[in-house]
Amino acid sequence: MAAVPDPTGVDAGRADAQGYAADWARAVRRLGFVPLSAAETERLLLVHTVRLAQAVRAEPFSARPAEEVGRALVEAHLTEPRALEWSLRALGEDFPRRVLGADEGRADLTDRIAAVQGALAAGFARALRDRTFTQQERIARSAWQARDQVEQALRDSEARFRAVFTGAAIGIGIAGVDGRIIDVNQAFADMLGYSIEELCETNVSTLFHADDAAGMWELYQALIEGKQDSARVEKRYHRKDGSVVWTDLAVSLIRHDDGRPRFTVAMIEDITERYELQQRLRFQALHDPLTGLPNRTLFFETLGRILDTAGPGRRVGVCFLDLDGFKAINDSLGHDLGDRLLVMIGRRLAECVADHGHLVARMGGDEFVILVDGGDDLDESVAVAEAALAAVAVPVHVGDQQLAVSASVGIVECPAAATSASELMKAADTTLYWAKAAGRGRWAVYDPERSARDIARSALVAGLPAALDRGEFVLHYQPIVSLLEGSILAVEALVRWEHPELGLIGPDRFIGLAEETGLIVRLGEWVLRRACRDAERWWREFPDARLVVSVNLAARQADDPAIVETVADVLATSGLPAELLQLELTESAVMGSAGEPLRSLHRLAALGVRLAVDDFGTGYSNLAYLRRLPIHCLKLAGPFVEGIRADGTDAVADHRDERIVDALVRLAHALELWVTAEAVETQVQAERLRALRCDTGQGRYFGAPAPAEQITDRLRGGGATRWA
Ligand code: C2E
Ligand code: MG
Ligand code: MG
Repeated sequence: MAAVPDPTGVDAGRADAQGYAADWARAVRRLGFVPLSAAETERLLLVHTVRLAQAVRAEPFSARPAEEVGRALVEAHLTEPRALEWSLRALGEDFPRRVLGADEGRADLTDRIAAVQGALAAGFARALRDRTFTQQERIARSAWQARDQVEQALRDSEARFRAVFTGAAIGIGIAGVDGRIIDVNQAFADMLGYSIEELCETNVSTLFHADDAAGMWELYQALIEGKQDSARVEKRYHRKDGSVVWTDLAVSLIRHDDGRPRFTVAMIEDITERYELQQRLRFQALHDPLTGLPNRTLFFETLGRILDTAGPGRRVGVCFLDLDGFKAINDSLGHDLGDRLLVMIGRRLAECVADHGHLVARMGGDEFVILVDGGDDLDESVAVAEAALAAVAVPVHVGDQQLAVSASVGIVECPAAATSASELMKAADTTLYWAKAAGRGRWAVYDPERSARDIARSALVAGLPAALDRGEFVLHYQPIVSLLEGSILAVEALVRWEHPELGLIGPDRFIGLAEETGLIVRLGEWVLRRACRDAERWWREFPDARLVVSVNLAARQADDPAIVETVADVLATSGLPAELLQLELTESAVMGSAGEPLRSLHRLAALGVRLAVDDFGTGYSNLAYLRRLPIHCLKLAGPFVEGIRADGTDAVADHRDERIVDALVRLAHALELWVTAEAVETQVQAERLRALRCDTGQGRYFGAPAPAEQITDRLRGGGATRWA
């Protein structure tokens, strides 16, 4: 056997071993990731190079150190397979020559080198296997630890859920999608007054109720069919003892992993107190605190619902009732008694329609309204109004007072689909006003045509002031003729409106409203000035005719203290002698607004103008009283004259009217008053009136009202009439 160099003869510092280690380190770093620096790698591999060299030379030989080198490489994380391949090849090729300084192909070394190569590879592989095993073990261990933690967490959450479930103040119930109750907590059972066991034998469907809010059952169906994940409603439950509990119910759906519905979880909270408080507040908001009747809010809510949902053919009626003269009762008897009266009236109204289920509401003050829903026709609403009026009319005892009360009712009845709440109530209000104007204590029915006329009238009045400014008014004059001689003694000035669109409008259509609005004062003054100017012209042109102009004075004008100055001024500016002006006042105007004779009458008479009572007989004046007033003439109202007819169709009436006219004329003459008969339309009437010694006549028979020029023409012709 050839001599092997002594192991101790290997010099680790020799350039060869060091160069080899440097090349090895470079290769290892080039071929894979190395978690060491270049110098550290080289230092490490030099140690292994030396160990390998020592192992090859050692006597006796053992490959074991090489196995350890293999393991050490793995432990240093030099595990790249290509690096291992390089290491083993270099060990066979360069290592003997460069590190051991041996000749190539030395047989003794070749065996040892091969053994060293094998041992290193084996050590490397074993170390690698050990490491993988260790890693797997570590992973398994942590996996087990994790599973333990999850199970613990589940156990915790289950415990927590149980604690919540059993201890919760809100009721929790779990049911299958078939509606069977699986579990409920004590709070749920208590709220419904059953035991947990009883409820667990129950199906959810039995807890639904006919008077649950609409759509609740459908909501539940949608939930268990998985179309919805949760629902929340206020629901009342009937407890085992029959009492009612109101709850705030929230239901959620729990699904299987694949999404199929699995359970429903219901949570209910007892809100009975809150609900009842809400109901109480709602009642208060919708009812009148004094009478306890529904208030206007509830009335309009109900009416709106009826109108919104009304099908064809459904009718609706409203009786709008207002007590007559309630303000006077309140003012004279005090508000306490007034309130008690309202309470009593409210109760009576509610009772009188109770059988029909009509809604009775207090609209405020002394206004009540009865809603006649689903009536057949107007007759039903009228019957309700009559019943209401009768109920009100029964004398009321409040305190030690007995009061007779009356009311007026406006009735509107129409197809429900054809109106709106505001239209209906506006019409009812208008109609109530008609009932009041017609004398109170009665009902009136809405008439759309009348309402349209009212509206047109108002529109007309609104245009009055501008019309006056534009000079759209004209005067027509109607002759007042001596029944004895047939001559024209006077003319009455009658105003007309030349409306640019409506044509010539008679005073009946606007005088009333002009009086209501006060505009009559301006209009009346214009009439007065115009009439006096015309009359002054006639006087100058036909002084012998001594034609009197008769001007109507509205109550409001006559009531105005300034009237005397106005008349004086008109006479002065026109130059008309005072005795050629006659002022016509109605009986009520003569009495003034305070019910006393007008003080200005004497001052007017003192100016020298004549005063006439117009439409005499339609008011309530008594002649004896008129005696004390400075009146010159009575104008007998048309109806008396109308009763005087020649055809004898109604002999009794004819006779009676003639006797009345006869008596009136005698009395008037006894008081030294002239008598003018109005509305004389026929020759027969004129003759009868002359026979009754009536002084003058006015009417179509003697001439209709006509423009001033026509009067001028007649005066020019001598003022004669066919009567003369
Ligand atoms: P009045 O003062 O009683 O006037 C008489 C009314 O009878 C006039 O109606 C006249 O046209 C009408 N008449 C004339 N002949 C006949 C007849 O043969 N038969 C019938 N049935 N009626 C006849 P008109 O012009 O429509 O005036 C109506 C009322 O308007 C007047 O009634 C008067 O109260 C009022 N009025 C007219 N002009 C004025 C005015 O300038 N001022 C005021 N305050 N009221 C006036
Ligand atoms: Mg008149
Ligand atoms: Mg008259």
